[in-house]
Amino acid sequence: MSSAGARYDVVVIGGGNAGLCAAFTARELGARVLVLECAPRALRGGNSRHTRNLRCAHAAPTELLTDAYSEEELLADLERANEGETDEALARLVAARSAECVSWIAARGARFQAALRGTLQLSRTNAFFLGGGTALMNTYYAAAEKLGIDFRYEAEVTSLTIRNGVFESARVRSNGAEDVHANAVVVAAGGFEANLDWLREAWGDAARNFIVRGTPYNTGTMLRALLDAGAAPVGDARECHAVAIDGRAPKFDGGIVTRLDCVPLGIVVDRDAARFYDEGEDVWPKRYAIWGKLVARRRDQVAYSIVDARVRGLFMPSVYPAIEAASIRELAARLELPAERLEATVAEFNRAVQPGSFDHTKLDDCRTAGLSPAKTHWAQRLDTPPYTAYPLRPGITFTYLSVRVDARARVLATGGAPFENVYAAGEVMAGNVLRKGYIAGIGMTIGTVFGRIAGESAGRHATK
Ligand SMILES: Cc1cc2nc3c(=O)[nH]c(=O)nc-3n(C[C@H](O)[C@H](O)[C@H](O)COP(=O)(O)OP(=O)(O)OC[C@H]3O[C@@H](n4cnc5c(N)ncnc54)[C@H](O)[C@@H]3O)c2cc1C
Repeated sequence: MSSAGARYDVVVIGGGNAGLCAAFTARELGARVLVLECAPRALRGGNSRHTRNLRCAHAAPTELLTDAYSEEELLADLERANEGETDEALARLVAARSAECVSWIAARGARFQAALRGTLQLSRTNAFFLGGGTALMNTYYAAAEKLGIDFRYEAEVTSLTIRNGVFESARVRSNGAEDVHANAVVVAAGGFEANLDWLREAWGDAARNFIVRGTPYNTGTMLRALLDAGAAPVGDARECHAVAIDGRAPKFDGGIVTRLDCVPLGIVVDRDAARFYDEGEDVWPKRYAIWGKLVARRRDQVAYSIVDARVRGLFMPSVYPAIEAASIRELAARLELPAERLEATVAEFNRAVQPGSFDHTKLDDCRTAGLSPAKTHWAQRLDTPPYTAYPLRPGITFTYLSVRVDARARVLATGGAPFENVYAAGEVMAGNVLRKGYIAGIGMTIGTVFGRIAGESAGRHATK
């Protein structure tokens, strides 16, 4: 829909989950809303189109979720994953309002499905979108258009004019440059995970070997613009959600299919054929997001997950073919690893495995003794051919460096005062809550909760 010449109450920058939640809420308050999205229409929806689920508290079993998952437990999970380093008030807000997400999303036409089985173990905590994030985004866009929200695609915002804490306009590059004025702005333009230069500033040369799991459009232009305008930063540029993914994945936008879930079921070695971390530290949803960073710290940013025939069928199949061999020596040759070292690593691991009852669906008692690093659960001897390996690379999902916000999603300046009409939602502010770690599904929860809050704050401000 054309927006040329129209005057808007609220301009939303970024058409992913957080931006659309903000746009709905502002529009439902009566505001005239424009969403500026830099991707072409076919690639709209940012990282959100790659998602599958969101995390939500609930007091009793529902059609979608088993048992109960209290706000307190969600908050405790969040705090544990972040080693206590989270803005507690904002984290509490996310936990409390997570309980409303499913009904709010469903009211806008999206549908859910029961949790998938496998190693993810999320049926109690996470609600799954029917058709995944792409279906969610398509449903949102259709409903938003019906509601009278305007969209512009291939409309990259390159800078913001913010004077004395007041947003005036956004400079848009589409066919030429244009300034879009509005009474309020919601910035929901993601983190800087697709900006390879910025990643290199944070990670050095290691960043060369990172794979960006999601959209190439989240280059951090808006994060930088807000910081340059005096917004207070929160979080560390090196902190991010980064998963170990199949090393054969494309550089951008490979999505969830490139993820590998076999890590807890075998061993992981680096280029020197050495183990370097406890593969069985915790259930996969609580640990998968640290493996990207672990691999990023290894030589050449590569590692290999090795399993044997015992665990075949217990993890989701990979999109790329497994690398198989009848012996560890042969596997080493296929992976171009030092064969004797790999044989020694496997033999040492096998000697350390203690008797136990293997159960990949819970924290079992299968562990190693006298091995460093230990494997504390799901440790079984690696002795049943064929042996199977997958190359792992750091797959960056999103970065945590963010702008500081308050409970109304107002962006705070370095002095602590809020900007008058500048709000942020989603990845661009997720670092207020996520400083170090991640729990599956919380990205979409943060985006939904803060998208709604930002939309409400911006809508009220702009129409008062
Ligand atoms: C492969 C993958 C799987 C994931 N799975 C899950 C999951 O199952 N559950 C979960 O909770 N989280 C998941 N996440 C994380 C989740 O995607 C994010 O937390 C969430 O989507 C962030 O929403 P957002 O609206 O902030 O960003 P996005 O959805 O990325 O939207 C940002 C939008 O801003 C646009 N944009 C960027 N810069 C500009 C600019 N300068 N001008 C105009 N537009 C701009 C982009 O094109 C993009 O559309 C996953 C991420 C990936 C990559």
